[in-house]
Amino acid sequence: MRGWNIISLNDEIEKFLLEQGVLKVGFANKKTLEGGPSTVDITYPLPEAESAICFVLPLDRDKIRAFLRKDLPNGRRGHELDNIKTNIRVFKIAIRTAELLREKGYKSVPVFPNFKFREDVPGWEINMIPELSLKLIAARSGAGSIGWSGNLGLKGYGAPIIIGCVVTSAKLEPTDPIPPEECFCDKCKLCQSVCALRMFGSDESETLTMGGYTFTCSKRVNLARCQVVCGGLSGLDKTGKWSTWSPGRYPYPENNKEVMRLLSLAVTNAVKWPESGDEIGISESELRKDEELLNALVNDKEKLIDMLKTTKLTCGNCQLICWGDPKLTKENYKILTNSGCVIQKEDGEILVLPPVDAEKSFRAMDSKHQKLYYRELHRSK
Ligand code: SF4
Ligand code: SF4
Repeated sequence: MRGWNIISLNDEIEKFLLEQGVLKVGFANKKTLEGGPSTVDITYPLPEAESAICFVLPLDRDKIRAFLRKDLPNGRRGHELDNIKTNIRVFKIAIRTAELLREKGYKSVPVFPNFKFREDVPGWEINMIPELSLKLIAARSGAGSIGWSGNLGLKGYGAPIIIGCVVTSAKLEPTDPIPPEECFCDKCKLCQSVCALRMFGSDESETLTMGGYTFTCSKRVNLARCQVVCGGLSGLDKTGKWSTWSPGRYPYPENNKEVMRLLSLAVTNAVKWPESGDEIGISESELRKDEELLNALVNDKEKLIDMLKTTKLTCGNCQLICWGDPKLTKENYKILTNSGCVIQKEDGEILVLPPVDAEKSFRAMDSKHQKLYYRELHRSK
């Protein structure tokens, strides 16, 4: 009798989620997550949790292409808004799924897909330890698989997907990870070459075993490399031939010491950059009108509103170029690496120019202004 109930609840949740437009659903439980890091401990957001439900929604591909191409004026902004709105959409689906489970008597919590960190862990601001590692839980549940970049993805969609998650006291039947032959990643490693500071550029891999399954991805060289680039502080690629949407043009740091030096220098400089006039994040008034969202955010409401209204996306390349089809991923790589370089004028205007012209125009700027975007790194061994 119990077995029947468990299976039918899985089916009911999956049907509900597919009706909301999600691409794939997976289920994990405490046992299948055993052996994973502390960030797969689903009792962190809900002490009574027994299971996690994961699902994914795709990002808008046309907007990704405009972002990669550096279309002006809306290439950056268009994708940013789609990305934030998809995160909110995913969370709302999680809210409704949690409600459905609560109506059946199970304690359930929707997990916000981004920006929530374990603030009780010392150093969380630097290490950005998430409340839950949704990608690991989703990979173990089979809602997607982990690619070389470390991002979750699906065949035919690739990595530009947003993960949703609900943790619940319901004892759901766990599902298996996607088998290797059905995974989206063909190890083309183009994701590695579109990370301007090569956060995972060593060619080495790292593995993790959860619930008897082993997951492999590239070894992270130093997370601070992503913090510099994804944080919008610098964007010039190692090759100098293209950039992200950031106007920072710092030299490539060769080792951890140089990365840390660059991080502190770039943070100090970026706060002095002139206003570009670019709209960023999502409007606060729009968020404050959204009762469903606000009620579910509970104590984190103000913190998350603040994050959502100030989010400015300038990278995400390792996720955005990988479309789960080698031809399309290669095309994205070409688009990005031929998209030119971003520089910022003294009056704040953002320009996108071919690499040689960008360097020439940058060097023609006031030297004080130049120092806010570029400074020789004192080389160290
Ligand atoms: S770009 Fe995508 S398919 Fe290619 S190695 Fe990276 S994750 Fe795998
Ligand atoms: S988001 Fe950007 S900076 Fe961060 S790892 Fe991916 S490509 Fe590198």
